Amino acid sequence: MKVLYLTSSSFSGSTLLAFLLNAHPEIITVSEMIGWQYDQDEDFECSCGKTLPDCPFFQNIAAAFRKNGLPFDFRQFGTGYSLVGSETLNRYLTECLPRIRNSSLERARDALVMAVPPFAKTLKRQDLANRSFISAALEYSHSSVFVDASKDPHRMRHLSRVKDFDLQVLYLVRDPRGVSRSTMKTRKWDATRAIEWWIRDQQNILRISTEFSSVLPVYYEDLCDSVNDTLARIHNFVDLQPEPFCGDFMAAEHHILGNSMRLTGQSNIQKNERWREELSQADIDTITGTLNDFTANNPQHALSAIIKHYLN
Ligand SMILES: [Zn+2]
Repeated sequence: MKVLYLTSSSFSGSTLLAFLLNAHPEIITVSEMIGWQYDQDEDFECSCGKTLPDCPFFQNIAAAFRKNGLPFDFRQFGTGYSLVGSETLNRYLTECLPRIRNSSLERARDALVMAVPPFAKTLKRQDLANRSFISAALEYSHSSVFVDASKDPHRMRHLSRVKDFDLQVLYLVRDPRGVSRSTMKTRKWDATRAIEWWIRDQQNILRISTEFSSVLPVYYEDLCDSVNDTLARIHNFVDLQPEPFCGDFMAAEHHILGNSMRLTGQSNIQKNERWREELSQADIDTITGTLNDFTANNPQHALSAIIKHYLN
């Protein structure tokens, strides 16, 4: 099964890209595929307009899970890699170690976790859930490529364990000033916290991406400015015949989870550069100063080339 994993920081345009990729007849995606923890009494809608329990696509996924002896919850599919109830402890067991950002140590940690039988059993069940989900989605849509736009780079390391998956990586990156503006607004953070988070997140993505032989970097701004060239690069990357954007990404059948963009009715590309008007000069100076400090201290780091692409 061909799986294209979309990794990026939050607020980098992954939902837009998911819609655009889903419009290719050979590609299926639900964007983020671990489920959406909506309130029990909320009528959370799929992008097709139906609530998840009424959506034919998700009914099909639920049936595939039942067939494989797996429980299926419409709020949490069981495809996320989670070993314990505590979010922090789970992060230490399946994602980043506390404070340390080191791939060798994370690999050693993964081997230790795998040596604990109940953890190994849970991870195997979660692998099976991912396999069941992806194979049912491909069958339902008669597609040959599944796109998982869950973004988290540690998740792709888990997926690489599943032997049936032929995994390729799409690394989507957006202007850090734009990401910072969205982060500051949504999470109520100041500019320093927002840009420091972006740098840490990007370092994790780049570090884990080096473990994969097939990685395609894509700039969000290129996607908006030259949509057909960018889509053709991605389609070629996964060995598909390039299909240009038809002008309406809602025209194809879609069952996309993710941010509210899925329900706004927006069906064309609107490049978001509101940071240019909405960030104060002081915030831009803070962000630029932090980015320049990073490139000065890490001139050879892959992230420095990306930062220079945006600041120069
Ligand atoms: Zn749907």
